[in-house]
Amino acid sequence: MDCLFCKIADREIPADLIYEDEHIVAFKDINPQAPVHFLVVPRLHIDSLDEISKENDSLMAHILRTIPALAKEQGIENGYRVVNNCGEDGGQTVDHIHFHVLGQREMLWPPG
Ligand code: AMP
Ligand code: ZN
Repeated sequence: MDCLFCKIADREIPADLIYEDEHIVAFKDINPQAPVHFLVVPRLHIDSLDEISKENDSLMAHILRTIPALAKEQGIENGYRVVNNCGEDGGQTVDHIHFHVLGQREMLWPPG
């Protein structure tokens, strides 16, 4: 499948990987929007949050449990934001589900 994040997970395309295990990979965003900005991505190709089903429960839990550990490891000290852009209006540009983790600056609310 011609999917950028599948290729990064399979190491066919290089990325600045910060974590990997059997189920997920995390790498630095190529166009960072904060001093720390990385993406957490399942190895399994899932288009978007819209496609998540009960079968993915443990995968989603694993992603959410891993994020705080990675945030700490990456030096985020005072909180962070986790973002999932879903679909066109959500601003999703890569159709492989991913969670942005942004930190080391104050985030705005509401987002633009
Ligand atoms: P989204 O707009 O939520 O789909 O996010 C896609 C993100 O992937 C953007 O923040 C891009 O900067 C990032 N991105 C695109 N290509 C790469 C790449 N080759 N390596 C790392 N991050 C990437
Ligand atoms: Zn994919």
